[in-house]
Amino acid sequence: MLDIKAVAFVATCFLAFSAASSSRAQQPLEAPLEELRNWTLAKGDLVASPTQPFAYGLRLEIAMLRGTRWSPGVILDTVKRAAPILAQCGIRIDSAQLHEFTGPRRYRYLSTPDSREFARRAGLRKPAVFFVDDTRMEPAFEAEAIGRANARARPEMTDTVWITRETRDLPVALAHELVHVLANSGNHSSLPGNLMREQTTPFNTKLVREQCTAIVAAAQANGLLDRLPPSEGKRPSRVPPERVSDGVPRAYSGTPNTATSSRK
Ligand SMILES: [Zn+2]
Repeated sequence: MLDIKAVAFVATCFLAFSAASSSRAQQPLEAPLEELRNWTLAKGDLVASPTQPFAYGLRLEIAMLRGTRWSPGVILDTVKRAAPILAQCGIRIDSAQLHEFTGPRRYRYLSTPDSREFARRAGLRKPAVFFVDDTRMEPAFEAEAIGRANARARPEMTDTVWITRETRDLPVALAHELVHVLANSGNHSSLPGNLMREQTTPFNTKLVREQCTAIVAAAQANGLLDRLPPSEGKRPSRVPPERVSDGVPRAYSGTPNTATSSRK
């Protein structure tokens, strides 16, 4: 059962970056974006195993919109089930905070102008995951990740993951997209059972040592992972004892989209 804690109910919290940016605060006629509720999964809810040695901590911020087909329970369960996949690289999800917003209907769909605006106004710490109803992108993917190299035309969406309601194998898809963001890489793997195969399945969950090395190096360099003190992580690092093969991520190719799963 999920340990869902209703942390706060904020009735009239306009999250429009008004305090941070006077120029943006002056933009007129934007519908209010309000945070209705939020829930926090703490590391105790997310640790895969009490004996799991972790070297890195990940703090996730997550957004959903009321009126979409998402429910908080499904999202929080997805995060909990994605945690053991990332744990292969010694990454522990230290916290996951889900924010439920109400706002413009157009924010329910992944589309560059609206999603840039949503991401900016939501003001979530990165990496952030947005659960949306559907996509209006062409080509249409079930889920997309926006790292550094493919965010130049949409800087507000840097280090974000977008998951549509059509996405299958949700925990695997979430972990897959997070790896794209953390590693800042759009590369895929052809290794059997690998998380980064282009097609997500419930059985594609493995990460090899070289992938883990690339993930934590890039994510730490980009400030997306915290190095845990040894007393927290128990051992300095842990990667799965997988063989070296062609699943090693190559340098980021700068492809326009690091999307996964099938086209719709
Ligand atoms: Zn992918």
